[in-house]
Order: sequence, then structure tokens, then C-alpha cells
Amino acid sequence: MRVLKFGGTSVGSAARIKEVASLIDDGEQKIVVLSAMSGTTNTLVEIADYLYKENTDGALKRISELENNYYKVVDELFETNKYKEEGKGLIKNHMEHLRSFTRDMFTLHEEKEVLAQGELISTAFMQYHLEEKGVKSALMSALNVMRIDKAGEPDDFYIKENLTRELNALGDYYIIITQGFICRNAYGLIDNLQRGGSDYTASILGAAACADEIQIWTDIDGMHTNDPRVVENTHAIAELSFDEAAELAYFGAKILHPTCVMPAKLNNIPVRIKNTLKPKADGTLISVNTNKERIKAIAAKDGITAIKIKSGRMLMAHGFLRKVFEIFETYETPIDMITTSEVGVSVTIDDTRNLDKIVTNLKKYGTVDVDTDHVIVCVVGDFVASNSGIAASVFSAVKDVPVRMISYGGSNYNISMLVKAEHKKQALIALSEKLFID
Ligand code: ASP
Repeated sequence: MRVLKFGGTSVGSAARIKEVASLIDDGEQKIVVLSAMSGTTNTLVEIADYLYKENTDGALKRISELENNYYKVVDELFETNKYKEEGKGLIKNHMEHLRSFTRDMFTLHEEKEVLAQGELISTAFMQYHLEEKGVKSALMSALNVMRIDKAGEPDDFYIKENLTRELNALGDYYIIITQGFICRNAYGLIDNLQRGGSDYTASILGAAACADEIQIWTDIDGMHTNDPRVVENTHAIAELSFDEAAELAYFGAKILHPTCVMPAKLNNIPVRIKNTLKPKADGTLISVNTNKERIKAIAAKDGITAIKIKSGRMLMAHGFLRKVFEIFETYETPIDMITTSEVGVSVTIDDTRNLDKIVTNLKKYGTVDVDTDHVIVCVVGDFVASNSGIAASVFSAVKDVPVRMISYGGSNYNISMLVKAEHKKQALIALSEKLFID
């Protein structure tokens, strides 16, 4: 059994839904996880925003626009009147449900329900389309299977039990369609796995079903050796280890959601990234069996802010770092990179929502400097296998680029550097030339 996940652009129009339907109809049993059609979740976020602000006109206008777009998809997707009517009825129901939220004060729980509509619609479209084609498929509601606990973490035991029950009940159907992203929470209410969470759904279901492979279908042919928007002649990486993929997913390549790697790694299930537009291409295979090439990829994470705290009190003292980290913990702000010296510490963050409060608190412990508009450039590979000379090649590549921070040795798979955003392109090209071409 394989689990295949198709992202928003892969099901972004009637034509793309039809392509995916042909792709999955190959006679093998599988679970197919779908995102909402591209753009839908963003529109639903806007609608929720209007509802919070009690801007009923704004919300109703966006709902009508969404509804009209969906009616166009219905017209193109279905051939017969029967299914055109089913499709229109489906949209009408979902849109009426959205409109019903304009009546009362809008709550966080209702927001989650609004956001869930995109995946509920895209999966119903796929199921109706397959039925219309005569393909033996079934729709499995993720709301009957996927649950998070009070800490927001997947409830693995519950998910496995319920998936087994659903799959047993659907024994005859070889294609099982389900929603990515959406789930229930510990109180049984509709919730989600955070934006981009459909990859996570696929990985969690893959682990629960002990799948042979989890496939993430997207619109690029795998994880690339460098950012193709900045550097020429990049190519898809054939193989990555789970650890390398996790670093790369977090630090750049927006192809795979970083959370997706862990359930696959823990259950040793290979993850393959495939391109819906080039289904025959091998894509990138993420598994334990990786070739031990020294350097696999270069990536960049934008929108980084560096914070430096300098204090005489740090000199030979203990407990200073704990106090600093506690401030970030209080404001639920994750730290990406960290470097220390005897009298100071520099950290980077990408979530600056509480920056002012963090800085005010940090000032109790020393002088604080903030540098915005930076980029983490990272080199990913297996540096245990053949260690010597790697750092020298990386740093000689960027000899003309001013580097603000360096992190090496945190894991065996990553060397990170912090540079100003204006030097990102120069750094990525220089690293590519030195590490892949020389
Ligand atoms: N539809 C959700 C989003 O846009 C989840 C996903 O596509 O993975 O974030």
C-alpha cells in the first residue's frame, strides 16, 4: 500500500484534477491525500479575517467569488448532468455553511471549520469525478481518522486504530481519497495540522498504514541542488537521507513540509517527491539508504532577524543562556541559529511578532543589537562520512561575502551561515560554483 499526496497546484483546476485521476488509476491499492485547490485556503483565511472583524459584506463578497469559481470548475470537471448537479449541490452546501458563520460572533473553533472547507471540497470533487469515470474509489473522511492531542501533536494510537477500522470497512476499494491538513482535536472539534499540513497528513497516514512508500506529488521534479529561482543549472537530487531532507525542508526548499519527515523516519518508510507534470521522472527519494556524497544541496531561508546580546555577566557565569532562552520560550518564538562567545550570544529568529517584547526583556541582561533582513544560507550533506576539508571548501567559496554568523557541528548534516539579504544571490552562486562545479 502506498500513500500519495497531491498539493494544491496539482488539483488546482478541472484539468489538473483529471490528470491526477488518471495518474492514480493504475490498479494498485492506495490512499490519496489531497490539499485544497490552490488559492482556496488563502481565500478562506481572508473570509475568516472578515468574519473576525464582523465585516459581513466583505465575507459574503469573498464567499460569492469563491462560489462562482467553483461553479466554473464543476462545469469543466463533470460530463454528465447528474454529476454537474451533484457538484453544484456540493458547492451550494459548503457555501451556505460558510455564510452561516456571518450570523454570530466568530470563534477560533469556527475559523478551523471555515479553513477545512477547501480540502472537503477538493476531495469530494475527486471522488465524484472518479465515480463518473467508473473507477472503484471511496472517500474516507480524515475527520474520522486524524486527531491531535491537547498539545497539538498527532494522536498516533487513535489514528492507527481508526485508520485500520476505516480501511477494513473499505476493503474493496482500491483508491481511497482523503483530506490532507484537517483533523479533529482532543475535544472532537474540527482542527488542522497548520498551514501546508497535508504533507504531514500523508506521512502520518503512511506510518499508521505501514505503507511501502509515501509519495509527495508537487509541481517540481524533486528537491533541487540549489534554489532554481536564483541559481542556473540546478537539478533534482536523486537521493537524500531523512536527516538531510529534514534540514533542507526547514532551511529552504519549500517542496516538503518539514514536519513530514519525522513519522516517515521513525517508521522507516521511504518518501518520494514526484512531479505531477512529469510523472515518469524519478524525483527525489528520501530514505535511510542514501549515497554518502559529501554535499547534497545548498538552500536559503529568507526573512531572518539576528539578535545579539552582549554582557559582561556572561563571562565565566552559568545560567546566562538559560535566562536568554526562557525569554524566547515565554514568547513562543523558535530560535534557528545560535553562536556564542565568552561575552555574548547571537541567535536568529524568523517569527518577529513578539520581537519588541523579547528585546525589552533581553535588555535586562546586557546590550542588545537587532539586525533584520538577513538570510540563512545552508549547505546540506553527510559530513560524517568524509569530514576533512568540507568547512574549508564552504568558507573559501564565500570568501568575498560578509558573513554575520556561522553554525557548524549542530548536526552532522548542515553548515549554516547568516548573510544580509542583499548578499544571498552572491553566496548561493559562489557556493554552487565551488561545491558543485569546481
Ligand atoms: N490547504 C492547506 C494550506 O494551503 C494545507 C495544504 O495544502 O497542505 O495550507
